[in-house]
Amino acid sequence: MLKVAKFGGTSVGTAESIHKIATIVAADPEIAVVVVSATAGTTNQLQELLHNLKAGSLDKVKTIFTAIKKRHLDLVHNLSLDKERAAAEVQEVISALEHLILSRAGGPTGDYSDSFRDSLLGLGEKLSVLIVAGHLRKQTQKKIHYVRAEEVIITDDCFGCANPLSSLIQENVRTKILPYCMATSGLVITEGYLGATVDGISTTLGRGGSDYTAALLARALDDLAPEQFQLQIQLQIWTDVSGIFTADPRIVPAARPLRQLSRFVAAELAYWGAKVLHPATLLPLLDTNVDIWVKNTFATEEEGTLIQSKNSTESKVEAITLRRAQSLVTLSRVKRHDTYGFLAKIFNLLTSFKISVDHVTTSEISTSFTVYDTSLLDTAVIEKLSELAEVQIENNLCLVSMIGNNLIEIQDLLGPISKTLALIGQRHNHKYVLRSMYLGAGSNNISFLVDEKIAETIILELHRYYLEKC
Ligand code: ASP
Ligand code: MG
Repeated sequence: MLKVAKFGGTSVGTAESIHKIATIVAADPEIAVVVVSATAGTTNQLQELLHNLKAGSLDKVKTIFTAIKKRHLDLVHNLSLDKERAAAEVQEVISALEHLILSRAGGPTGDYSDSFRDSLLGLGEKLSVLIVAGHLRKQTQKKIHYVRAEEVIITDDCFGCANPLSSLIQENVRTKILPYCMATSGLVITEGYLGATVDGISTTLGRGGSDYTAALLARALDDLAPEQFQLQIQLQIWTDVSGIFTADPRIVPAARPLRQLSRFVAAELAYWGAKVLHPATLLPLLDTNVDIWVKNTFATEEEGTLIQSKNSTESKVEAITLRRAQSLVTLSRVKRHDTYGFLAKIFNLLTSFKISVDHVTTSEISTSFTVYDTSLLDTAVIEKLSELAEVQIENNLCLVSMIGNNLIEIQDLLGPISKTLALIGQRHNHKYVLRSMYLGAGSNNISFLVDEKIAETIILELHRYYLEKC
């Protein structure tokens, strides 16, 4: 077995947690690739730094820069790496950050291209990887080989949410990763979240994208493995909770970790709002036999969640998720009466603005959809949409999704949902409870839009009904 282990932001966040990583890696000879996130909060800080740089608030930029620098130099020191090569390497990345800042310190008139943003945001991982590599070199018997993700994860130039180019990635994994991780005691370590275009310009895979990096590497190794070594590949996502839960435990105290899940259910869960996995993580692995474990760095004795390749045949609700701050766009077809091509025009338009839509419902005279990133719904988009139809936008909605297997085969699926919604609506004296609803085509989810004021209560009640009774 060859394991790709990804460690998230909190797992690389402190000297103690990095020490835990070393213990995990040293105890398992099958871990051959390690992917790391930036230290918890650093990517947010870099984003804030960029914001202040653009605004010309150089004092704030300096404060954030100093905090990032101090945090990483403290880690180097607390892990006793001061005299190791990691210290000099970390210093180099800090200088690169300083250089990027100085190159744009001109305030609002500076050049803040999307590629500049990606090269800045990626620095968090470039720092953490060096520290973790340095510590693993010192604390384990493994032969640690650091490979820059930008040399392996080749993507298109959709900055901020770049799309991987799988055949190029596979070739890079074959030549730059496989030989090192197959060597006795060999371990390759790389950054999550980062990639580069074919021309070597830095890109990022979207926030939380380190999981996706690890999945892409596991996929490439799985494609290469049968050919060369008949190896079983496993992906491990090490985080700060003990697996994927039936609901967000901050909303539902009775939520519990799921022991096993099928690929499709896990993919839906990640997509519809369970924060543990990046939404795209499962996609490269859907048609493979790679087992995926979600485990807790801080409680290694706990089992975690196993995401299996086989699909369950049992009909049941497995989890409930919530996505906040949804905007519902409704387009009423009053301006033109095209009988065909209307949806195509809308989606082409949205594609040209790189807006991805989620929850789509359509009727004879109107079509509505939710938008995940509502900041993308700017005036330019709305003006263009208004040329095609009358546009109405409703904000402050939440998307509640019930995820599971073969939901359509649950005899009374809607009964308890409608009773719950009606009761809560009456209790809160709400004009309407349900704004929109749909049953996912794959029969793995039923989602509905509700007012954010009652969303949490709805989740609590539905969890009680579907997931707490035996
Ligand atoms: N550091 C990146 C982020 O915070 C990627 C990740 O943590 O997965 O979004
Ligand atoms: Mg994450």
